[in-house]
Amino acid sequence: MCLQFYEGHSSLAASIEILDLEEYMAHIVTSKCLGCKFTDCVEVCPVACFYELDGQLIIHPDECIDCTACVAECPVEAIYAEGDLPSEFQSNIEFNTTEAKRIKDEGKTAILKKKDPLPTAEARKVELGY
Ligand code: SF4
Ligand code: SF4
Repeated sequence: MCLQFYEGHSSLAASIEILDLEEYMAHIVTSKCLGCKFTDCVEVCPVACFYELDGQLIIHPDECIDCTACVAECPVEAIYAEGDLPSEFQSNIEFNTTEAKRIKDEGKTAILKKKDPLPTAEARKVELGY
């Protein structure tokens, strides 16, 4: 949420730009999660904005409050703040957005509890260098 107040028209324009930017910032689950789904991340999220695909989790960008709590929980460092996202994962921004919205539109709810990781998780973790 933007708490900045404006004084005059030029400041108003700047405030609107800040609002636009902040509206689209969120944390992103990258494709490093694909094949892992350790799900340590979901239990620390204060707003329950993780959703589940068969192969990985994603974050709903309209629900994430950028608290950073999940980042340190992931054993393969799959979660990044959007502003810190390495270039090779830029396409994951749209993937998180479209898939989270699709899942929610289908009436599914967020994943709240840790569950067993995928059978491929340990091998995937090694493959990723962790
Ligand atoms: S902790 Fe990391 S690997 Fe596990 S589900 Fe969350 S994002 Fe995916
Ligand atoms: S940054 Fe915070 S709100 Fe966003 S997904 Fe992670 S734990 Fe949830």
